[in-house]
Amino acid sequence: MVRTLLLVEDEEAIGRPLQRALEREGYDVVWVASGTEAIERSSTKRFDAVLLDLQLPDIDGTDVCRQIRDRGADTPIIMLTSRGAEIDRVVGLDSGADDYLTKPFALAELCARIRAVCRRYTPTGHEPSPPSTKGLHVEEASRRVFAGNAELALSPKEFDVLALLWRNAGTVVSREHIIDTVWDENWYGSTKTLDVTVSRLRRKLAQPDVTERIVTVRGVGFRLDTSPQP
Ligand code: CA
Repeated sequence: MVRTLLLVEDEEAIGRPLQRALEREGYDVVWVASGTEAIERSSTKRFDAVLLDLQLPDIDGTDVCRQIRDRGADTPIIMLTSRGAEIDRVVGLDSGADDYLTKPFALAELCARIRAVCRRYTPTGHEPSPPSTKGLHVEEASRRVFAGNAELALSPKEFDVLALLWRNAGTVVSREHIIDTVWDENWYGSTKTLDVTVSRLRRKLAQPDVTERIVTVRGVGFRLDTSPQP
């Protein structure tokens, strides 16, 4: 199966050789040079992954990321950044990106990241009918989450964290275990990204039909608790 990538990079000196290199690696690559084009393309076509430059001439990469997510697309997004500052990494992930890579990077490293995000996210293509019950339902096979009858739009990382807590509902899952399971074991980013992901999840779970809550167990990790219906 040929994977299709959307490469968003305004610098031709980076974009064109990167497109060619990725095509030699067997990917189908659509290259666009602006955030506007990226949002347009990603709303009309399904990509297996988006490689998104942070500094674009028209719209900031983090905003492009948010807009792609706001339109409901859960395609994995890898942020390409020349800013190494911690805050940018956290902001990048808070915008819904799944991973990031600081320029300059080796092609092999990028390919490894692409394979990792594609492995974690495999679309199923079929649309099972949502369960008509109350509360939270995590369907791992189809990677869908329902709050009552309403489907929640989660990023791949948000889904992975929630699915892990869901499988272990009622018991504490350590921060280390979550990071090792959801992010790569060679993840070198801040563990703050986990807190950012959890806070996004909490906002999404704060719905009338959902009684499940993610509880912080200080110094250890997180636990998914179900409080009884009032
Ligand atoms: Ca740029």
